[in-house]
Amino acid sequence: MTKPGCLVCGIIEGKIPSKKVYEDEQILAVLDVNGANPGHCFVFPKEHYPIIEQVPDPVLAKIFSISNKISSAVFDVLKAQGTNIFIANGVPAGQTVAHFMVNIIPRHENDGINLQWQPKQLDEEEMSTVELKLKEGAKNIGSFEAEKKEKAVRQLDAPDYISADEEDDYFTKQLRKIP
Ligand SMILES: [Zn+2]
Repeated sequence: MTKPGCLVCGIIEGKIPSKKVYEDEQILAVLDVNGANPGHCFVFPKEHYPIIEQVPDPVLAKIFSISNKISSAVFDVLKAQGTNIFIANGVPAGQTVAHFMVNIIPRHENDGINLQWQPKQLDEEEMSTVELKLKEGAKNIGSFEAEKKEKAVRQLDAPDYISADEEDDYFTKQLRKIP
């Protein structure tokens, strides 16, 4: 289900013109008109999900598979020397539109695109604390995925399972984190 007012949903519905590079019943990939490089594409589900956590596993698997193939095409036909495949998940991560998408950026040597960060020398004690916390947080990932799959089926059967309002609420909460 698309969401009124969402820029990406507007592309899906054809209200906003776009240059489509791939489309099937669930997924669409278009050129980013304000991209980092010619050939910068974004790949997204035709259902409105603000963040990656809400995308059902089977849809997510398909999006990554298609992204991989588009990346291969970028190498083949645009003669890219590399690709960056990234997701801005949440406002503090640079997400500007509340519709989950995967960016594919063709890269060439010395193309002036900077996705790098300054490496930090992290404190050993802090690292150990983070390791423990993350291990705890990740220990049930296997069973969590099984749960998710069940949920995913329900969502496919009934797209209203998570309402657009709940989704927007989450995104709004993130917006409030901006100083
Ligand atoms: Zn949308």
